[in-house]
Amino acid sequence: MSESLTAQQLLRIRSKLETVVNEQPNSRNAESAQAALQRMRSGEYGYCIECGDEISAARLAAKPDVALCVDCQALKDEEEDA
Ligand SMILES: [Zn+2]
Repeated sequence: MSESLTAQQLLRIRSKLETVVNEQPNSRNAESAQAALQRMRSGEYGYCIECGDEISAARLAAKPDVALCVDCQALKDEEEDA
C-alpha cells in the first residue's frame, strides 16, 4: 500500500495552509505554510528538503507545513537542544 497523498488529501492540506496564511499573516506559521505552498507549486511537496526522502502521508496530514522527514527532524531537534 502506498503512503503517498491522494489528490483529495493534497487539496485539503492546501486549503489548510492557505487558511493559515490568510488568518495569521506575518506569523512564523504563515511563513512555513507559505513555503509549503511554494513547494506544492514546484512539485517538491511531500519530500524532505534535507535528504529528499518521501515524507509519510500521515506525517503530512498531522503537520501540513512539515518540510523534513522524521530522521532529519530528529537530527535538527538534537542540534537545537544542544
Ligand atoms: Zn530527511
